[in-house]
Amino acid sequence: MIRLSGRLSGLEESATLAITAKAKALAAEGRDIIGLGAGEPDFDTPENIKNAAIKAIRDGQTKYTPVGGINELKDAVAGKFKRDNNLAYSRDEIIVSCGGKHSIYNLFQAILDPGDEVVIPSPYWLSYPVMAALGGGVPRIIPTEESAGFKMSVEAFRENITPRTKAVVINSPSNPTGAAYTFEELKRLAQAALENNVLIISDEIYEKLTYDGFKASSIASTSEEARRNSVVLNGVSKTYSMTGWRIGYAAGPKEIVKAMTSIQSQSTSNPTSISQWAAVEAISGPQDSLAVMVGEFEKRRNAMVEALNSIEGVSAFKPLGAFYVFANISGLLGGRSKGREIKGSADFAACLLDEAGVAVVPGGPFGDDRYIRLSYATSMKNVVEGVRRIREAAGRLG
Ligand SMILES: *Cc1c(COP(=O)(O)O)cnc(C)c1O
Repeated sequence: MIRLSGRLSGLEESATLAITAKAKALAAEGRDIIGLGAGEPDFDTPENIKNAAIKAIRDGQTKYTPVGGINELKDAVAGKFKRDNNLAYSRDEIIVSCGGKHSIYNLFQAILDPGDEVVIPSPYWLSYPVMAALGGGVPRIIPTEESAGFKMSVEAFRENITPRTKAVVINSPSNPTGAAYTFEELKRLAQAALENNVLIISDEIYEKLTYDGFKASSIASTSEEARRNSVVLNGVSKTYSMTGWRIGYAAGPKEIVKAMTSIQSQSTSNPTSISQWAAVEAISGPQDSLAVMVGEFEKRRNAMVEALNSIEGVSAFKPLGAFYVFANISGLLGGRSKGREIKGSADFAACLLDEAGVAVVPGGPFGDDRYIRLSYATSMKNVVEGVRRIREAAGRLG
C-alpha cells in the first residue's frame, strides 16, 4: 500500500456532499426522502444562458482560453463590480476559476506559508478551514453567537489577531447561517484588518440572494484602502443556478491575482471555455430570472422559519440571505430515539434520515454541534412536508 500524503490527515469529504449522496442512495432504493440538504438552487439555469453556451459551441469556442479567463468575461466581471459594488478593477486584478471554491483554494495556496493564521468566524462554510490547512495555514476559529446575529464583533476580531495573522475570511451573507453584516459593521472590521496588515478575504457568493429588502455590501467597498487590501470572491453558481458549470471569480491586488493565476496555470489551466461564454451572458444579460428565484426563496424561508420555531426544542434564526436555515436543536439533545441517544447534530441528522426520511446537514462540520442546517432550495411542498416530519421525529424523542 502507498502511504498517503500527510496533508490528508484530518481531511474529510465535504459533509454536505456526503449527506446528499446518502439521501440520493436511499431514494434510489425506493425510500421516500425529503431532501433539505441541498447546497444549490433547485431552479434550472435560465434559457438565455444555456443558449449562449450552445452558441459558443457552434462558434467554435471550444479550445484553451487564457488561464485566468477570456477578456470578455473579465470585462463582464469588472462591469458587475462597478455596477453593483462601486468597485473598479482592471483585467489584471481579476481571475476566473473553476468555481468560486477553486478561486478560494488558489488564494490560500498563493498567500499562506506554514504557520500563517487565517481568522475564520464560526459557524463557517466547512471548506474554509480545510482549504486554509491544505495551504499550510492554521485556521483560527472565532465563535459567534446567535444572540449577536452570528456575526463576529470587531473586538473579538482584534483580540484574535496575532503576529502570524495573514488573513480574515468574511462570508456575508453566510453559509450556513444566512447572517449578513451591515456596511458600518464591515467598515469597522476592515479598519481593524487594515491597522494590522491582515488581508481581507470576502466571499460574496450569496450577495444577490437576500431578503426583507436587505442589500448586501462588499467590505472592499468601505474605503479605497479596504479595496486595495481585499480579495473579493464571487461566482455564477448560486446567483444563476449554474453550480454545474463551474465558474467563479476573484478580484484583488494584481500581485495576488498573478500568483493565483500561476497556480491555476499549473493545475487546471482555464475554466471551461463554453461555461465562460455562458457566464458572460449570465452576468451581462437580463437579470429577471434572478428576481423570480429570490421571490420564491423568500416565501419558503418565511414558511420554514415559522414552522421550525413552532417545534418544541427547536429554534430558528431568520436568515437575511443565502438559502439555508441554521436551526438550534439544543432543546432536543440528550433525548433518545429507538435506543439511539441524540448526543449531537450528527446523531439527530442520522435519526431524521433513518426514521423520518428527511435529509438535513449536521451543524458540527460548520463549527457548531448544537445546530442543523436545512436548505430551502427545494419546493414549498418539500419545505412544508420536511419540517412536518422533523416535528414528528422531535416529538417522538424520549
Ligand atoms: C457554494 C459556495 C461557494 C462556491 O461555489 P462554487 O460552485 O465553487 O462557485 C463559495 N462559498 C460558499 C460559502 C458557498 O456556499
